Amino acid sequence: MSFHYRDGVLHADAVSLDAIAKQVGTPAYVYSAEMLLDAARQFRAALAGVPNKQLLFAVKANPAHAILTLLAEEGYGADIVSGGELAAARRAGMPAHRIVLSGVGKTPNELAAALDAGIGSINLEHEREGELLSALAVARGMRAPALLRVNPGIDAGTHAKITTGTSDSKFGVPLAEALAVYERLSRLPGLALHGVAVHIGSQIIDLAPLETAYRRIGDLILALRHHGHRITHADLGGGLGVAYRAGQPDADVYAYGLMVTRVTRAWETTLLFEPGRFIAARAGVLLTRVLWVKPGARHPFVIVDASMTDLIRPALYDAWHEFAAVRPSGKRMIADVVGPVCESSDVFARAREIDRMVEGDLAIFHTAGAYGATMSSIYNCHALAPEVLVHGRRSAVISSRVEPAALRRQSLPDWFEHAPRAIRAA
Ligand SMILES: *Cc1c(COP(=O)(O)O)cnc(C)c1O
Repeated sequence: MSFHYRDGVLHADAVSLDAIAKQVGTPAYVYSAEMLLDAARQFRAALAGVPNKQLLFAVKANPAHAILTLLAEEGYGADIVSGGELAAARRAGMPAHRIVLSGVGKTPNELAAALDAGIGSINLEHEREGELLSALAVARGMRAPALLRVNPGIDAGTHAKITTGTSDSKFGVPLAEALAVYERLSRLPGLALHGVAVHIGSQIIDLAPLETAYRRIGDLILALRHHGHRITHADLGGGLGVAYRAGQPDADVYAYGLMVTRVTRAWETTLLFEPGRFIAARAGVLLTRVLWVKPGARHPFVIVDASMTDLIRPALYDAWHEFAAVRPSGKRMIADVVGPVCESSDVFARAREIDRMVEGDLAIFHTAGAYGATMSSIYNCHALAPEVLVHGRRSAVISSRVEPAALRRQSLPDWFEHAPRAIRAA
């Protein structure tokens, strides 16, 4: 049912956003369980043609415990990038064998924790990491399940800051070196190397770069087998995009499923998928209240209580989020929508036609369920916004507001007894 207007008021399922603002204040994230589950089921259905597969939610997109718990019940495992995400995935009930550790800077402690938890695969980003992982596994009398992440040298055609598969990107081993690196890693006593991984970027709508990347991986699998390697798994990463602007299409997940089925038909591997944004983005909105409407040189500024500390995507990636009133009057205005933070990049929309806003009005930023709350900060001593999950008529706080004082474990140096005097004496 999703986010829709009923009697002129925006609702998440059967709960009005007015009521949520009254209950938890603003800014606040609001998620629809139904939209989350719809996307998770749609992704699975689209891959019906792939006989052996594992679906892993990219935890970094939204690590909320309730969200991970729902996805675990849908049979999703986790793609994780840190020890913290390992703990989050395990706590949500995702079995260790359905967890894959990715990331270009895994620490020795994280590698050890992943081994000790018995996770399904560690995706190696470079050769030295493989050597360390092997040593850690040997010390434990085990062999570490591992895939080699390959950088196929492909521009995903998305924003530079979310592209990971070009040859100058920090991720993975260049395709040209992959065979030799795989060969050397396969001889290490502590590794059970069993395939390759690729992830070329995020917010991908045009499937052509993905298809090219997968074809290159298919050729590599043939070459590896030719050299006697047993390749049982291929991790195809995440990256499918969604529509952030009204009127634009989401990535066609069914076309994606058909493309994957076609390209990988002869691979004879279990395929791993790591969708993040596609599952979570549309299921969440950021609820905010208009603080002021301030005259500007060309357009008024609509100053809202949400900021880049709650949703950094516009400041970080020039991302667009649709902005809509909770109780639209039918009148429109052209305005800059900005947050209160003291940075000129704390801007959500410039010269945009939006619902007419006055002080005190409630509004939302759409499509904020992925890379939203999880990227928030306490800059300007802002609180972390609460998160609310809605299902039908029910709603619940799944993450409470955190005041910055609770996060800053602050103390004064003991030699600072009377600060001004201590400084004068120095
Ligand atoms: C971020 C990431 C994903 C998820 O990307 P989405 O665009 O959110 O689907 C999957 N795999 C890896 C290795 C990642 O780094």
